[in-house]
Amino acid sequence: MHNFTLAELINGLRSNKFSSVELTQHFLNRIKELNGDYNAIITTTASQALESAISADQRLANGNAPEMCGIPILHKDIFCTNGVRTSCGSKMLDNFIPPYNATVVENFENDGAVMLGKTNMDEFAMGSSNETSFYGPVHNPWALDCVPGGSSGGSAAAISARLAPGATATDTGGSIRQPAALCGISGLKPTYGRVSRWGMIAFASSLDQAGPMARTAEDCAILLNAMASFDEKDSTSVNEPIPNYRSKLDNPINGLKIGIPREYFSEGLHSGTEQAVRNSLVELQNLGAKLIDIKLPSSHLSVPAYYVIAPAEASANLSRFDGVKYGYRCKEPKDLEDLYRRSRSEGFGEEVQRRIMIGTYCLSAGYYDAYYGKAQQVRKLIQQDFSDAFKSVDLIMGPTCPSPAFKFGAKGNDPVAMYLEDIYTIATNLAGLPGMSIPCGQVDGKPVGLQIIGNYFNEERILNVAHQFQQSTDWHNHMPSELA
Ligand code: GLN
Repeated sequence: MHNFTLAELINGLRSNKFSSVELTQHFLNRIKELNGDYNAIITTTASQALESAISADQRLANGNAPEMCGIPILHKDIFCTNGVRTSCGSKMLDNFIPPYNATVVENFENDGAVMLGKTNMDEFAMGSSNETSFYGPVHNPWALDCVPGGSSGGSAAAISARLAPGATATDTGGSIRQPAALCGISGLKPTYGRVSRWGMIAFASSLDQAGPMARTAEDCAILLNAMASFDEKDSTSVNEPIPNYRSKLDNPINGLKIGIPREYFSEGLHSGTEQAVRNSLVELQNLGAKLIDIKLPSSHLSVPAYYVIAPAEASANLSRFDGVKYGYRCKEPKDLEDLYRRSRSEGFGEEVQRRIMIGTYCLSAGYYDAYYGKAQQVRKLIQQDFSDAFKSVDLIMGPTCPSPAFKFGAKGNDPVAMYLEDIYTIATNLAGLPGMSIPCGQVDGKPVGLQIIGNYFNEERILNVAHQFQQSTDWHNHMPSELA
């Protein structure tokens, strides 16, 4: 059952090949047996899952159930789940049990989806390798000595290891696309404002966006149908009509204009990754697409601008974790100052503390204009690059990551080397655009991702092209040799 795609599972439930209870039990057994190898899931909600599966089976029997009814999924541990620990990968929230669901979680619950548990992640979603989690690193199912990418590495590894057919994830600077690429699965970061951020623990509020991860583009479309909603509780939620993301998957892509930014094929790109991406572009040409060279001249400024804006917003967002209201509190504080100081230095890991320091510095009086103000101006230039490009092309494509999965510790001592992992993904967040990664090849047995960037609210087109690519290639069906 675990080799079926989400779309196939939906059909299987409707044709009574199996029940939601059987399906749920099957995935719970797999998690029990295999999760120890990957550390992808940090909380399993077995009894709650079986209860939801029983109600889902009843709803399915009554007919007219939503597509996701009875389908087991995982949520990244950044989404608040009522009564279930939500740690955000941090010691700070190791004991935090939210009294409510995030809107995304609620949307899935209303549709009758079954939550199997919560996935491991970089602490507060800060990272590109999943090495910063309080619960230990996640292992890449394709090579256990390599990282799965981050920060949604738990969700990506779980799908790649077939521990669930789909999962939620979040992307502030690449955290859906980058781990999707390194784990050989599909992942979509929607347009900023498409999916509610309410109940999703904030990292950098102007960049954070939730999205789906699954094996195929079609499955991502099904998940996005359930996730996307206008939400009055999120002031940045956009009240645009929500299409059925499955409806245009089968459209032919004749005449599609694909922009190829020269900046995405420059120095630093692994030659094997480049080859795999170029081969997939030829495949799309064979399907009728035209390749057009474009320029995104401010691309080189995206990483420096992001590493001012994201830490600045993080330092403000994380000030709420003070040892007073909820979360970790140090033992026997001497006074209030000691309580703040020790709760925060004992509760947060090194990378989170580094970001708080950088962010506080950039926002402090006298430096605000020089750093934060400047970075916001650069952000505008990056947006402008994309809007110029979209005057002549429909989609923009290139690699998702500069290289395939790397070994644990390979970049651990050098934060800048790690920050460059997201060089191709960050600009999309700064501009608020949707972007996707789909598997498009392999280097030394490790997966490579093709990135597809669309104009605002053009998720339908991205998914359509990704689906057409997957109809004529089979990279999305490859699986880690250990599991084959
Ligand atoms: N790797 C980037 C960072 O550490 C992006 C993380 C993310 O998208 N959540 O900030």
